[in-house]
Amino acid sequence: MKRVRFAPSPTGNLHIGTLRTALFNWLFAKRYNATYILRIEDTDKARSKPEYEGNIYEGMDWMGIIEDEGPKKGGKFGPYRQTERIVDGIYQKQLDRLLEEKKAYYCFCTDHDLDGEREDAKHKNRPYIYSRKCLHLSAEEIDEKLKSDISRTVKFEIPDTKSLIVSDGVRDDIDFDCRLISDFVLLKSDGNPSYNYSVVVDDALMGITDVIRGEDHISNTPRQLLLFKALGFTPPQYHHLPMILGQDKSKLSKRHGATAVTDYENQGYLSDALYNFLALLGWSPTDTTEIFDRTSLSTLFSMDRISKSNAVFDVTKLKWMNGQYIRSLEPAALAEKVKPFIDDINLAILDTYTESDVVKIIYSVRDNIALLPDINGYLESFNTSFISFSEKVKSFQFSDSEKQVVLDFCCSVFEHSEFTSENISETMDVIVTKNDGKKGKVFKPIRKALIGLERGPNIVEIVSLLGKDVLSERASFLGKYFSA
Ligand code: GLU
Repeated sequence: MKRVRFAPSPTGNLHIGTLRTALFNWLFAKRYNATYILRIEDTDKARSKPEYEGNIYEGMDWMGIIEDEGPKKGGKFGPYRQTERIVDGIYQKQLDRLLEEKKAYYCFCTDHDLDGEREDAKHKNRPYIYSRKCLHLSAEEIDEKLKSDISRTVKFEIPDTKSLIVSDGVRDDIDFDCRLISDFVLLKSDGNPSYNYSVVVDDALMGITDVIRGEDHISNTPRQLLLFKALGFTPPQYHHLPMILGQDKSKLSKRHGATAVTDYENQGYLSDALYNFLALLGWSPTDTTEIFDRTSLSTLFSMDRISKSNAVFDVTKLKWMNGQYIRSLEPAALAEKVKPFIDDINLAILDTYTESDVVKIIYSVRDNIALLPDINGYLESFNTSFISFSEKVKSFQFSDSEKQVVLDFCCSVFEHSEFTSENISETMDVIVTKNDGKKGKVFKPIRKALIGLERGPNIVEIVSLLGKDVLSERASFLGKYFSA
């Protein structure tokens, strides 16, 4: 059975690009029946914070990406948090083996020494390769230094291989000349394992079969493959996903707008829409369909349709997609999603309605909403306050023919014993016919006079929801106001 992992570092709030990596691992797991593992890579103790780890869980919960194994879920291959694996001695055990087999060595060079070497390489226009000054220390010299408090690291000795082929599930094989790769640190001077080392030990011991991650990790892959070989473990298949760019084709960053997943949630995106949108950032189906529910994505997703070229994050398209998902929600579900985004002024307006009318009001304006807070721009039409209404009406001018249209409407509409959208619509039709079929001539003055607004959601829905009592109060006001 295949096993994939999502391995974020909790050094900041969950980034939208990192979420795309999680999603592709998750879709892979759904499609190929693999186990999906969440591993927290928190070895950078200075930058890792529990609140960032919390933010990762929050993002995953919101997206509905639920791990089979992980720090909270547990599992046979735990612990799943690297700091806990350090305490358990997991990295040290493998490191001792590499040291014993002389595949790794202690390095006592100071930062100052190494900076000097780097400067020198730069000067000579050569790639930096560590001089291996410490590789040839005698056993006595090493013992003596280890007993002192000299700072030390453990480095991996890169084998002298001319050609290392890295096979990638997405792109063509890459041929690396190992002689151009510097020996790199496995154990840092602070006693913590380096990223390249801990990731290999964990991928190996957790039985990961496929590593799916961003293309920015390609340069790490030969190092990781060499370590796999040195440790005697079977390496996974690597798949490097194309980068996500902003619309100006530079790497997606804060400059392009929100990058944290929670920002998207707070801006009123639906997780279903973001899920669909992110799935199309680097993967495409065989046809031009763009809207997919989760189930069809899980069956259609395939690794052989992942693109080699970078994906562009088009916010306009995301907003459009969000609008599509909003429109597809059932009335009650839409109301539940929208309510947390309604501001106090509009909440006060909705408070004058019954719960079931609130659901109808929200549903009636759904076509105008791309982001959930957009609702706030459309609720004023449902304000039942007489004072607010009369003040607004007084700010408008009405021609005699407009006044007539309004009065005609008011006369006819009260013939209905009940206000339903069908009834109101029927009355509207009658008045439109009376006015030579000119809708604009009818709808506009009615909206201005009965709602006090020039624009807004469907007037038929508004009138039916405002109800008979409010309408009759307004009609009698208009009768007097127009004849004054
Ligand atoms: N912790 C690494 C990151 O967040 C994971 C890289 C990998 O998938 O190997 O970039």
